[in-house]
Amino acid sequence: MVQSFSFILFFLGLVLGSFYNVVGLRVPVKKSIVWPRSSCPRCGRVLTPFELIPFLSYLFQKGKCRGCSAPVSPLYPTMELLTGVLFAGSPLLVGWSEELIIAFALNSLLVIITVTDLSYMVIPDRILLFFAVVFLILHLFFPTITWWDAISGAAVGFSSLLFIAIISRGGMGGGDIKLFAVIGLAIGVKSVLLSLFFATLYGAIVGILFIFIGVFEKGKPVPFGPFIALGTLTAFFFGDGILSWYFTLFY
Ligand SMILES: [Zn+2]
Repeated sequence: MVQSFSFILFFLGLVLGSFYNVVGLRVPVKKSIVWPRSSCPRCGRVLTPFELIPFLSYLFQKGKCRGCSAPVSPLYPTMELLTGVLFAGSPLLVGWSEELIIAFALNSLLVIITVTDLSYMVIPDRILLFFAVVFLILHLFFPTITWWDAISGAAVGFSSLLFIAIISRGGMGGGDIKLFAVIGLAIGVKSVLLSLFFATLYGAIVGILFIFIGVFEKGKPVPFGPFIALGTLTAFFFGDGILSWYFTLFY
């Protein structure tokens, strides 16, 4: 029973992931998310229903447009697969609880901002505002955290990133700061601080790796959104486990 639910959620995630790619690629450039239909950016050919099948179409087409052979960005199938895995994995990690609804919304927000940040280096206000309202409504019906925790989470998320932005003199964009406010609103003070810890840790590890393999160009800005997404998922799904493990080290 649980397996078949995971299966359904995985496919739902694939389909939503495909939609989140469209949202992430169109909202920052102020295009409609429903019209026109998706087409090849090089030859302009409108994609057939077959080519719109998430992930599998990429495999069948070997990552190329069927009209002009232009390579299709691996970002699309990656984000689709990731959304599928996140949706299928969420109930295994938080159970069939009220937290699961928050998990689905959080997965959605993080996938979309990863697409916008990787593609355009922006995290649009419209997306953040939309999800801020979603989380406010969800807290009304599924009170996984207290209102006090949600409001102070938003304040702590916003101010700690603002602080980092000021001391790093622009190393952090305005979008990152506002994103952390929305994440704080969604998951509360303790988890948003853990998110920041893990995001910074992942950013530092990847930064050092990049310097070693020589891809990192000094002065070239690196999108921080994907690290925030990864850090937030770690904090939300594994935060309590990691904290209790950490504290047992001292007893
Ligand atoms: Zn084409």
